[in-house]
Amino acid sequence: MNYDVVIVGAGVGGLFTAMHLPADYKILILSKEGLRSSDSFLAQGGICMLRGDFDYEEYFEDTMRAGHYENDRTSVDTMLRASQEIISELVECGVRFTRDEKGNFVFTREGAHRSPRILYHEDCTGKEITSHLLRKVKRMGNVTLLPHTTMVDILTDGKECYGVAARDNKTGKITCYRAPHTVLATGGIGGLFRHSTNFRCLTGDSLAICLRHGIPLKHVDYIQIHPTTLYSKKRGRRFLISESVRGEGAILIDKAGNRFTDELRPRDVVTQAIREQMKKDDMPYVRLDMRPIGREEIQSHFPTIVKKCEEEGYNVFEEPIPVVPAQHYFMGGIAVDRDSMTAMPRLYAVGETSCNGVHGRNRLASNSLLESLVFAKKAALKIGRESKELPDVSCSYERDTEQFKKIVLEEIEKERQRHE
Ligand SMILES: Cc1cc2nc3c(=O)[nH]c(=O)nc-3n(C[C@H](O)[C@H](O)[C@H](O)COP(=O)(O)OP(=O)(O)OC[C@H]3O[C@@H](n4cnc5c(N)ncnc54)[C@H](O)[C@@H]3O)c2cc1C
Repeated sequence: MNYDVVIVGAGVGGLFTAMHLPADYKILILSKEGLRSSDSFLAQGGICMLRGDFDYEEYFEDTMRAGHYENDRTSVDTMLRASQEIISELVECGVRFTRDEKGNFVFTREGAHRSPRILYHEDCTGKEITSHLLRKVKRMGNVTLLPHTTMVDILTDGKECYGVAARDNKTGKITCYRAPHTVLATGGIGGLFRHSTNFRCLTGDSLAICLRHGIPLKHVDYIQIHPTTLYSKKRGRRFLISESVRGEGAILIDKAGNRFTDELRPRDVVTQAIREQMKKDDMPYVRLDMRPIGREEIQSHFPTIVKKCEEEGYNVFEEPIPVVPAQHYFMGGIAVDRDSMTAMPRLYAVGETSCNGVHGRNRLASNSLLESLVFAKKAALKIGRESKELPDVSCSYERDTEQFKKIVLEEIEKERQRHE
């Protein structure tokens, strides 16, 4: 089957790429599970925006400091400067960010941000953004969306990429989708971990495929652990208690009810403090007290969290809730240039599966939706400038995905040991 562009992944990265490709391109978007089973739907806290020139230096510095100064400065600059345009595009798509009575944006704050610069929609900003993007893409006459279809390999002659081979999850049938340009937008790697906030289907398949084909990855051991997810003995995805809860005043307390850390330090620092406290207390969790936020603000800003806690038997208005760190975000990924191109010609990577260096060693809260959108758009514009002629070359692929998880985990371990 021939297309002009094949995009693997239907989160914000994949959808925004499709939206910025030329309108006459025939586009295919694959998704491993249903179209709403992407981490983009789960984002709670919000999306950053550079509020004006007055905030440039501080926002830049906050991003760098959170990333331990290992960030790519040019990528950070690109992201900050593109942010207002991206937000305008989202608003044009119908995304409703919280506004005050005069109609001005309301900004919230999360850990390691020195000032409020995060736009949000209640505590389900990702769902608000992604459902609008999905609606828009569904209305585009040139895009075919194919859910429940798993990429098993890229099509390549060993030098360039000419599409993907993918398996229909129901029938098991493998089909080759050929295209002169392919975009990997397959998200994070949480499915490799026992405790993660991510969808279980996100297992770093693109990374395994790139490793098989010798396409370089970067910083695969840069994995962010979120300090506060709701403690549960159940298996499966962990429920995130967004950082903006702490940004609005919630405090972390130990077994005896005493506050033990500054809740707004970068995520890795707070995670470390919680782990040490759990050890001291000999407990599988610490507790988060949301009551300092105030009932009204809790109700209007965090309705999803209130509901989920209720389902698990906790009343956030009356008691602290148990929280524990869990795998949350992947800063590393497929190495890409500033137009999101991988080392293999005709192959791009965007969103969490890619690494353009924006986040350095640790992501600043609410920078990832923005980063995905900014660099997805750059990939689309770059593809739009290239020829869409599909050369007639014979390609091969492998259908075995059994080893994917093992391949990625081994690479992470290798990189971790290299860093030690
Ligand atoms: C609980 C939670 C809260 C978050 N909160 C925030 C926040 O407040 N602000 C913020 O900026 N970021 C937040 N993030 C991070 C952010 O949501 C993600 O980084 C971002 O949405 C990633 O987008 P993406 O398009 O790269 O991947 P995703 O949205 O995860 O999409 C990945 C897509 O790839 C598909 N896929 C994967 N493998 C295959 C395969 N082999 N074949 C076919 N398809 C495949 C999946 O089916 C899916 O459609 C949060 C993340 C989580 C988990």
